[in-house]
Amino acid sequence: MYNKVVNFIHELFQSEEFIPLHAPLFIGNEKKYLNDCIDTTFVSSVGAYVDRFEKDIANYTGATKAVVCVSGTNALHMALMLVGVERDDEVLTQALTFIATCNAISYIGAHPVFIDVDKATMGFSPSALKEWLVKNAEIKNNQCFNKNTGRRIKACVPMHTFGHPVLIEELVNVCNDYNIELVEDAAESIGSLYKGKHTGTFGKIGAISFNGNKTITTGGGGMLLFKDEELANYAKHITTQAKVPHRWEFVHDNIGYNYRMPNINAALGCAQLENLDRYIQSKRETAKAYADFFENIDGIDFFEEPENCFSNYWLNVVLLKDKKSQLDFLEYTNDNKVMTRPVWELMNRLPMFEKCQNDGLKNSLWFADRVVNIPSSVRIKE
Ligand SMILES: *Cc1c(COP(=O)(O)O)cnc(C)c1O
Repeated sequence: MYNKVVNFIHELFQSEEFIPLHAPLFIGNEKKYLNDCIDTTFVSSVGAYVDRFEKDIANYTGATKAVVCVSGTNALHMALMLVGVERDDEVLTQALTFIATCNAISYIGAHPVFIDVDKATMGFSPSALKEWLVKNAEIKNNQCFNKNTGRRIKACVPMHTFGHPVLIEELVNVCNDYNIELVEDAAESIGSLYKGKHTGTFGKIGAISFNGNKTITTGGGGMLLFKDEELANYAKHITTQAKVPHRWEFVHDNIGYNYRMPNINAALGCAQLENLDRYIQSKRETAKAYADFFENIDGIDFFEEPENCFSNYWLNVVLLKDKKSQLDFLEYTNDNKVMTRPVWELMNRLPMFEKCQNDGLKNSLWFADRVVNIPSSVRIKE
């Protein structure tokens, strides 16, 4: 039966060769803009493409303002600092996520607490969040504290898993009730919409990634999305060494970071963004083809976008029956020139985070034994 799947995927991508999980695609103005950087010598962290990329992303997503970073991981690090997370605070997030989410929390010296995901979204569950807070949280002086550890619960970081939006409106409401800041890890979900509005624009800050395996890439890079213009201006300041503007003096008014994306990466991003809607359309056609195909395959279910959502289908997901089938499927496909991957090891199973509090993670454990990502590159031939 798995040979039917392998054949279908080779046919879909019109190749008998190795089919990668997600390859980047450069069919627009990439070379032109990169040449422009070299011709003008503006290859580094100052340049017209940096400003343009920020404006273009803000326009595209509807954010008030966007600020570039050198990676999605440091975009998340900045976002958590900017909402006021401090050493020894707790940050609520998913165990079912990529390591970057938890690394960003750890850079500050804060501690993740793992909350379960929903079956329908694979992302942060507002009902699990509420249930955990009712049992474990108390409000003192308008701040939320964990009754067990005594630590402040400062922020919540939901992640739009594989491009599928979480129930973000409900999360906003729960976080508001408990005075918890909401940062969206929208690293995987550029162009994905919840009730018509872009993921990454619901929280106080959203973070996007442009790593080489994401829907569009700048080689490496990230972006912060803001509602609040002043906070965005401050983000720009501390991601550029916190230098006080002056014609020649080197005065810095804070501990700053060198997190600004170089112009050559931003140039790539501007060109990629021009084609993003075409890419997403192609990815959605792929998802439709998979959905139709797996309809007739026993024991393998295709994961479809949640209700009220428009997903970019960054990485397509199939669900196997159990752990054994998951491993058999991974082995067969990878032996037969179709790249597939299981979902990330749950964060609470990694040595750095095994002591962190969690809520039981019923659905996360269920997904961990079943999820496999299948090839999802944009299928536009030029
Ligand atoms: C890709 C990704 C990031 C950011 O990764 P970078 O490689 O640093 O750009 C963060 N969170 C999630 C969930 C991701 O998938």
